[in-house]
Amino acid sequence: MSCELTQRFIPGYMDGELDLVRTIEMEMHVKRCAACAQKLENQRELRAALWRSSLAYAAPAVLRDRIQSSLRVSSGVGIQERPFKSPSLPIWQWAGAVAVLALFSLTGWQLTARHSRDQRIAGEVFSSHVRSLEANHLMDVVSTDQHTVKPWFDAKLDFSPPVEDLANNGFPLVGGRLDYLEGREVAALVYQRREHMINVFVWPNPTGSKAAQAIESRQGYNIMRWSHGGFQCWAVSDVAPSDLAEFVRLLETYNSSESN
Ligand SMILES: [Zn+2]
Repeated sequence: MSCELTQRFIPGYMDGELDLVRTIEMEMHVKRCAACAQKLENQRELRAALWRSSLAYAAPAVLRDRIQSSLRVSSGVGIQERPFKSPSLPIWQWAGAVAVLALFSLTGWQLTARHSRDQRIAGEVFSSHVRSLEANHLMDVVSTDQHTVKPWFDAKLDFSPPVEDLANNGFPLVGGRLDYLEGREVAALVYQRREHMINVFVWPNPTGSKAAQAIESRQGYNIMRWSHGGFQCWAVSDVAPSDLAEFVRLLETYNSSESN
């Protein structure tokens, strides 16, 4: 397995999503390749740091109590005689627990899930950006011409990302590469603002438009997200937050004038 492929598969490997052959190939590669072993270690550390931070939520004790009391009510059996952890619970008791969980998911839990999904993607976006700058792998196609970059993506991906050059607005397009986010291949468009790089990650999103939103600021990098024209887009850079917001607004404007 090549270094490029190995590094692209690291998130999938860490999530246990690779098949057996790929997993073995990965493990053999990192045993003899110090560079890839280091990348894997960096990812592990980043992930561990994210889990240590406030992004990880434990289920509240009140949820456990409510599931237990609902089981007690529906079965008429005291929780002492039939503990919740018993592996021999009848299937309908589990169904009761699932129903309680479903009720919770209809309320605040969906919001929490959406929030934590954004945080998770923001983490991937952040690490992809840092990796692209550190690994000297910022661009697979180097061009300031959107008519070169767009066909390059069209040939490599199963979707056709919108590609705009914003040179006239002070954000020249400098190239693009394939990247890997959320378990899939995505387009990474690379823009420049003076000496700063901006990565824009684009992949299909069938769930409609969403206005641009600043997701977070991490170690001097700002991350924004928006959805438009069937795509979700994430931008990350160390430019000033106002510059990034202006850049995103320009992209949104161009993309909507194109899709109308
Ligand atoms: Zn390697």
